[in-house]
Amino acid sequence: MKAQWFRLCLVIALQLSGTHLLGQESLFRVLAFYSTTTEPDHVQFAQDAVKFFTERAAVEHFTFEATTRWDDLNDERLRGYELVVWLNESPTKTEQRSAFERYIQHGGAWLGFHAAAYNDNDTNWPWFVEFLGGAIFYTNSWPPLPARLAIDDHLHPVTATIPGDFESPANEWYVWRPSPRLNKDVRILAALDPSNYPIGLKDVLISGDVPVVWANTKYKMIYMNMGHGDKIFTSPVQNELVNHAINWLGMGARLTATREAKGIRISPHGLALNSETGKFYAVNTSQGRVTVLDGDGRFVARIPVEAEPESIAVNPNTGRVYVANSGSGTVSVIDGAMDKVIATVPVGALPYAIAVNPAADRVYVSRTFSDATVIIDGKTNIARTLNAGVGDAVSAESLDHDTYLVTYEAPQVTVFDGTNDQISRIEATIHPWAIAANPATHKVYVVNSGSANVTVIDARSQATKLVKTGETPCAVAVDSSLGKVYVTNYTSGSVTVIDGVNDSIVNTVSIGQHPQAITVDSSNHKVYVASSRSGAITVLDGANGAVMGTIKTGTLPFAVAVNDKTHTAVALGLEGDLAVINGVTLAVSSPSIPENER
Ligand code: ZN
Repeated sequence: MKAQWFRLCLVIALQLSGTHLLGQESLFRVLAFYSTTTEPDHVQFAQDAVKFFTERAAVEHFTFEATTRWDDLNDERLRGYELVVWLNESPTKTEQRSAFERYIQHGGAWLGFHAAAYNDNDTNWPWFVEFLGGAIFYTNSWPPLPARLAIDDHLHPVTATIPGDFESPANEWYVWRPSPRLNKDVRILAALDPSNYPIGLKDVLISGDVPVVWANTKYKMIYMNMGHGDKIFTSPVQNELVNHAINWLGMGARLTATREAKGIRISPHGLALNSETGKFYAVNTSQGRVTVLDGDGRFVARIPVEAEPESIAVNPNTGRVYVANSGSGTVSVIDGAMDKVIATVPVGALPYAIAVNPAADRVYVSRTFSDATVIIDGKTNIARTLNAGVGDAVSAESLDHDTYLVTYEAPQVTVFDGTNDQISRIEATIHPWAIAANPATHKVYVVNSGSANVTVIDARSQATKLVKTGETPCAVAVDSSLGKVYVTNYTSGSVTVIDGVNDSIVNTVSIGQHPQAITVDSSNHKVYVASSRSGAITVLDGANGAVMGTIKTGTLPFAVAVNDKTHTAVALGLEGDLAVINGVTLAVSSPSIPENER
């Protein structure tokens, strides 16, 4: 009521004497800067933020303007505002930076979100790093996921009435090194709660202190790490936190643990089965090795590969095993009979997704932060790079002579024809993350994490259908004999079961906290769902969708594979440790590894 009345007064005031009176009526004036040419999810956030600020301005009696013209960052323009907001970028020009420094030194206030504080070796703005409290971007979690935030400082006016912890919507979480917590002038207002760890499906934060909202008390400033994607303003509690920050800064605003954050990059394909020999191959990223287990989960060998192996693909026809070594920019080729490396193929920096196309005897490798796809000839081990504009593919899968690559940022699946190198694209929806194929039906399932659905592709006609899932679907497995498809929903904590013949939903099984990887035994129809957050594998009976048990693995499992002849399942944990599950008794054990191989 009060707000409506106030707005009415404003309208009258405007009609009487133009915009001048508006400035007098409002409590303070806010100018937000953003870019529309940066990362799409950062643009999306900025657009949502402009809407949010506009609504708040009406209710909270402040003036709000937003601009994409960074040249407006000059003395004259800034003079009219108590608070400057950067939504998704920071200025790059010297004169803009200098004007901002003068604005702050003369008592102006700043609120920055997410990428606005990103800085690295190329930023060349030491003043800004000092202003942030010394924080330098170090790493991030990926993809964007919701996280529990803990309020660190209950005495600060911005956080005083916010609950002690709350669920913050999906965001890319940044880690800072050095951490702003090391700065005696910084008050950390909120940080990632330790219950989040591990968090990430590709880039995983395992432990440590990650400040998310802070104030450098030497200035009128607050930084908030939220700001990636379209979910940021979906939490009323978080909205209130943003609202408090705007008002506290706009109205003229002004403890030390030193745990270091630790993170690694993972892939659900860090573990692979050779369907012909029944052997399991698992990466040990920190040790630069691959562990080989036999079909019953007994230790066979440990194979040194190169730095930071992350994902594995097997060609069952040739027995060769391909390991993407992200730290060294190579792929190790393992002979599956000898379990020895027979070739090391340079592929360029940060190889990540890897898929074998057995029909074409080719291996497709994507690279993080790169549009390049590397194709390795399986006979000669010679690699060539195709700049297909796929961009940073996260998953890949082969069916017949085609190989499908999915990219988080691209709403299309890229298809490489292994016989003639032709590239085609098939429409998916928002933020595809995982993919699986059913060779029996010639269908391909692309999991769209951002739009909560699955694109079902008929590989022969390339026709597509959409099937609804739970929130943040992130992994998919196909029971090729029953034709059923299982999708894990990370945020909903459930598995969606899809009928592979008519593409309808059979049922949705609730399985608990943050499932992230899945595999299915196509001969006894047991489904294994891994969650590193809960340190457990949940086993479903695929015939009726019942939960048969939840197995604490003693590891933090993020990848799982099963041998459908022995019914042995293996789970790979974040420390590189393995758990072996007997698929009949559901007993769990660790493979016994000889002393000299540990
Ligand atoms: Zn981001």
